[in-house]
Amino acid sequence: MERECAEPDCDRPIAVELHIPWADNRFVCAAHARVLGRRDGVVADPLPDEREHLLERGQSGDSEQSRE
Ligand SMILES: [Zn+2]
Repeated sequence: MERECAEPDCDRPIAVELHIPWADNRFVCAAHARVLGRRDGVVADPLPDEREHLLERGQSGDSEQSRE
């Protein structure tokens, strides 16, 4: 099972499903979802199963500090 980002040169685990009006849905990592999700018409749909990865990693430096 491939659970890696669909973007080339990226092997991070997928975290988001992108609904792309002009192409097939694409599974990408959180970082790419942030970039690609800004395009018009694209809807980023976070995967519940993968949310733990996001929380564990916190690799982007702007993780949400809403715990306390
Ligand atoms: Zn990626």
